[in-house]
Amino acid sequence: MTDTPQTPDWLQSGYDRIWMPYTQMQTAPLPEAAVRTEGTRIHLSDGRELIDGVGSWWAACHGYNHPHIVEAIRDQASKLPHVMLAGLANEPAFTLAARLPEALGLPPYRAFFSESGSVSVEVALKIAAQYWHNKGETKRKKFLCFRGGYHGDTFATMSLCDPVDGFHAAFQGVVPGQLIADLPEDDTTEAALADLLDREAATLAAVIVEPLVQGAGGMLFHDGETLKRIRKLCDTHGLLLIFDEIFAGLGRLGGMLAGGLADVRPDILTLSKTLTGGTLPLSATLASEDVFQAFQSNRLEDCLMHGPTFTGNALACAAANASLDLFESEGRLAQVQALESAMLPTLEACRGMPGVQDVRGKGAIGVVQLDIGGFDELVWLRGRFVEEGVFIRPFTNIVYLTPAYNIAADDLARLTDAIIKIVPEWAAKFGKK
Ligand SMILES: *Cc1c(COP(=O)(O)O)cnc(C)c1O
Repeated sequence: MTDTPQTPDWLQSGYDRIWMPYTQMQTAPLPEAAVRTEGTRIHLSDGRELIDGVGSWWAACHGYNHPHIVEAIRDQASKLPHVMLAGLANEPAFTLAARLPEALGLPPYRAFFSESGSVSVEVALKIAAQYWHNKGETKRKKFLCFRGGYHGDTFATMSLCDPVDGFHAAFQGVVPGQLIADLPEDDTTEAALADLLDREAATLAAVIVEPLVQGAGGMLFHDGETLKRIRKLCDTHGLLLIFDEIFAGLGRLGGMLAGGLADVRPDILTLSKTLTGGTLPLSATLASEDVFQAFQSNRLEDCLMHGPTFTGNALACAAANASLDLFESEGRLAQVQALESAMLPTLEACRGMPGVQDVRGKGAIGVVQLDIGGFDELVWLRGRFVEEGVFIRPFTNIVYLTPAYNIAADDLARLTDAIIKIVPEWAAKFGKK
């Protein structure tokens, strides 16, 4: 018999060479070595098993290794993993483009594929800017975004994130400044936005918003009325409206699109995260037929000036097609409703506990907002959750769940039980009242 090593060889040697995301590597504990996933379980190299509450940055919406997606990837890999999309067509990408609008409850929109959420937002910005350029309106170059928003980590998308809470304070001045406003959640903020647009609309290409929930900004929810107000103001000022549905779309809030739940349609929208069920990097930027028409002419320079190497990657698109299948074949949206009605009332047990500021959620998002005093408290909470056998990763001032839509009831209970148990431990340890 051979002993299973407690720590695999590659962990420390790799840690000494890899650059981890959003991690202070001098003080961070070594990450857990994940060696296998299955459903909502993450298996670690030392034999421990974690129940996953995060879905790997909100992406693994059918759980890990769903056989239908795995088979689609395997099948596609043996036939045609990738060919460039200029001059060559591949079946998964064309099928995905053709089926996406109907699956999302939209009229025909055009789909442009890239490989990350940030890039799909960049493409949305380029489409909006070039739309006006093609129409001969050359002064519309800026964008308006909202406080609390997050749209990615690349330079242009950083300029659209909340300047205070948006993770990117180090880059102020490096990125071009955009206009930022409060979400028009009531008459006062709506009037302020209307005033701002009266002054600035002629310089703006588009308004961008995360519809119904601002994720990385701290899981902040707003209602459909707010989106209706934004749509109305964009219409009166002749502005394009971009919905960044990268977090909120594809079932997370219980509908295929957050915009659909609010009955508001954007001119351009972005998808990523759950698009391949969290298996492969892929994103889509979808534009309305009206937007697309502005790029139709007999001049080459009017075409969309963008084309990442891996656009329309056949493997990723095959995974996305398989993921869309599952919404129908396994009744995913109904499962999100069931998840919501099991998760949110259970988390309510935290309301009123010392240090708990709020309990909120919608669809497959559950949030407990805490009076977090410092980064050491987040580190303690993260470690304590792993000890408890769950992968839950609080950030800023929230402990949250974004589990797979089809998580089993007992796994969900393990996640909510862990939160209900550990929040009071945190409060006692850090002296919360
Ligand atoms: C995650 C996220 C992005 C960025 O996507 P990446 O794939 O990480 O580049 C953009 N917008 C929203 C709303 C997101 O949640």
